[in-house]
Amino acid sequence: MNERTSDHETVASPEAKIVFRLCPSCGHSNEGSKKISYCPDTWAMTACGACGFVYLERGVMYEELASNLAWEKTTKIREKQRAEARPISTKVKTLTRKRLHLLPRKNAARLVERYATPGLVVDLGCANGPMADELGEGFVPIGIEISSALAQAADAAFKNKGGHAINAPGLAGLKTFPDDYFSAATLRSYLEHELQPKEVLKELFRCMVKGGVAVIKVPNYASVNRMVTGSRWCGLRFPDHLNYFTPSSLRKMVLDCGFGIRRFNFLDRLPTSDNMWLIIEK
Ligand SMILES: [Zn+2]
Repeated sequence: MNERTSDHETVASPEAKIVFRLCPSCGHSNEGSKKISYCPDTWAMTACGACGFVYLERGVMYEELASNLAWEKTTKIREKQRAEARPISTKVKTLTRKRLHLLPRKNAARLVERYATPGLVVDLGCANGPMADELGEGFVPIGIEISSALAQAADAAFKNKGGHAINAPGLAGLKTFPDDYFSAATLRSYLEHELQPKEVLKELFRCMVKGGVAVIKVPNYASVNRMVTGSRWCGLRFPDHLNYFTPSSLRKMVLDCGFGIRRFNFLDRLPTSDNMWLIIEK
């Protein structure tokens, strides 16, 4: 499974367990259909013939994600590759984001404080728990994190704030919580990695209080940058980005799961932005 492609290197181990995916949005099988050429053949990127949702047809099993493909490893590898390949554009982008205060984590906490009532906040893919230092008075962080090392660090950080973190994939983690439990949720750079994004959103709906809000940030496959840079777009990561949302496919999925939309895309208004933001409500 270790193969090098033009611009994206896969880092899955030879023992990686691969699963075939039906369309994560509508359940249609796109086996044998024409693939999108951005993608190395190994991962078969497709636009659903029934609903248009763009996704990778093969996903790596959760056990693999928890160790060999853990976020902290693959991100470091990709950042290094990107910086080496395009040192100037990487630097400019980092500086621009800093100057415009578009750094996503702090924004997510601010949005939670603004739109949610105080209570428990579930942070899906909580990494090592930066949310602990970002949430204001009355908001208690609960983390779900697939990487065991990161989950452990988040657990320690969240316990200082009265919360905790568990080491689990998103869906399995959410299933351990009761109905009507969370006041808010944050899904920052999470849904694009998720094998079962719709199932996770449905489960999240169940365990949120009525009126609870979730802040979602994902790469925007319909962004100008993707159209211009094509196969070099920074949102393409094989195989760890499994789902390629557009504003309409993201909107459809959250509505299908029962949520209403409070705000869409209102933070990342720059036409050059690679990401989109969404605030949904139960
Ligand atoms: Zn579909």
